[in-house]
Amino acid sequence: LDGLDENKRELVRRRRILGKGYRLFYKDPVEIVRGEGSHVFDEKGNDYLDAYNNVVSVGHCHPHVVEAIAKQAATLNTHTRYLHETILDYSEALIAKMPREIDRITYQCTGSEANDLAIRIARNYTGGRGIIITNEAYHGNTDLVSSFSPSIGKGQALSLEAGILPTPDTHAIGEDEIGDYMIKALKAEIARMKRHGIKFAALLVDSIFSSDGIFPGKPGWLAKVADAVHEEGGLYIADEVQPGFCRTGEAFWGFARHGIVPDIVTMGKPMANGIACSATAVRHEILDTFNDKIPYFNTFAGNPVAMAAAKATLEVMDGEDIMGNAHRVGALFKNELQKLAKDHPSIADVRGAGLYIGVEFDDPETGDPLSIEVLSLIEQMRQHRVLTSNCGSYGNIMKIRPPLVFSESDVNRYMTALEESLTALGL
Ligand code: PMP
Repeated sequence: LDGLDENKRELVRRRRILGKGYRLFYKDPVEIVRGEGSHVFDEKGNDYLDAYNNVVSVGHCHPHVVEAIAKQAATLNTHTRYLHETILDYSEALIAKMPREIDRITYQCTGSEANDLAIRIARNYTGGRGIIITNEAYHGNTDLVSSFSPSIGKGQALSLEAGILPTPDTHAIGEDEIGDYMIKALKAEIARMKRHGIKFAALLVDSIFSSDGIFPGKPGWLAKVADAVHEEGGLYIADEVQPGFCRTGEAFWGFARHGIVPDIVTMGKPMANGIACSATAVRHEILDTFNDKIPYFNTFAGNPVAMAAAKATLEVMDGEDIMGNAHRVGALFKNELQKLAKDHPSIADVRGAGLYIGVEFDDPETGDPLSIEVLSLIEQMRQHRVLTSNCGSYGNIMKIRPPLVFSESDVNRYMTALEESLTALGL
C-alpha cells in the first residue's frame, strides 16, 4: 500500500477485506462523515445534496429520532422474549395506519427478511408455491427472495416457481391501458404455472415499481390487478419497502394510493430512519394459520432500541407533515423537470409520485435507451455534489428519491446541477 495516495489506499483496503461485492457509487467515490436533513458533508465540510437516500426519510440525524435512540440505548436493549411496552405502543400506532383487515404485525431487521417471511406465510395459507413478480423486481437478498428478484442479474438463478410479469411501462403502454395489460399478463402466468403443476400463491409487488424504472401510474390502476389476484385464489403481498411511509405524498402506503386492501404488507428502509427495523403486517387469520405450526423469533428484530427509533420516526412523520412535504415538493420538482424536458428532447418522460421521480432518457430519433449517457449524467451530477442515481432494465432512468424533508431550495439546486450537466454532455 506504500506509495499510494490516501484515496487509492482506501479503495485497495476495501477491495481486499470486503471483496468485490461491495460496489461503490461513482468513479470518484464520495466519502461522507456527517449528515443533516437532506444534506451530507465530507471531512472538508463540503456539502452534498442527497437526492437518493430513502432510508433517512425524516432527514439525516433527525434530533427527535437520535434522542430516542440514545435514550433507549442507554437504558436497555434486549429482545422480544420479555415484556416491553414500546413495541406495543408502536405496533398499535402503526397498525392504525393500515386497513382494518390488517391487524397483526411481526418484526424483522431487513426488507429481505420481511419478504422471505411473507412468502412462507402466503405459501402456508394458500397451499400454493407460485409467486408472481415483475420483470426487474428486487425483493431482497436471502436465498428465497433473491430467487424472486430478477434485477440481481444473470448470476442469480430465478426460482422455477416464479411467474414474471412485464414491467408496467406506462410510458410505452399508456396510463389508461396499463391495468388491463397487467391483468392479461397475470392470468397468462397463472395459467402457465398451472400447466407446470404449480399452484399460484401470491403476487409480490412494490406499487411504485422502483427497480423496474419507477412506474407509479395513476392512483387506482393497480386495484384491478389485486382483484384479479384474489379471484385466482392468491394473496396480494404489498412490498412497501420503497413506496411506504409517506414517500408517494398521496397516501401513507403505496397500496393505499391505489385503494388496495392487501393480505400481507412488508416494510423496511425508512421505518426507523436508519436503525435496522422491518416488519410484516398480516391479516390475523393468515398469520395465525402460520403461527399455529411455526413459531417465529428474530433475535434483533423489534428490540427496544429499534422500536424507540421507529416510534420516534413515526412521530416526526405525523408531527412535521412529512407526507404533505413529499406531496408539495414532489409536485414542484416534477413540474420543474417537465419544463426542462421541453428544451431537452433526450428527456422522453418525467413520472413519479411524491418524492419518487423517474426521468427517462431515450434517443429522440430512434427511441433507444440512453443508458451510457445517463451513467455519465449521474457522474456529472456528483461533480456538482448532487447525489442521485439510475434504474430500469436499461439503466436509462434517472432515479430521484431524496429524504422526504427535501425543500424547494434543494429542488432549485438539483435543477441547476441537472441543467448544467445536460448542457455539458450535450443531451
Ligand atoms: N424490497 C424492495 C422493493 C427493495 O427495494 C429492497 C431493498 N432495496 C428490499 C425489498 C430489501 O430490503 P433490505 O435491503 O432491507 O433487505
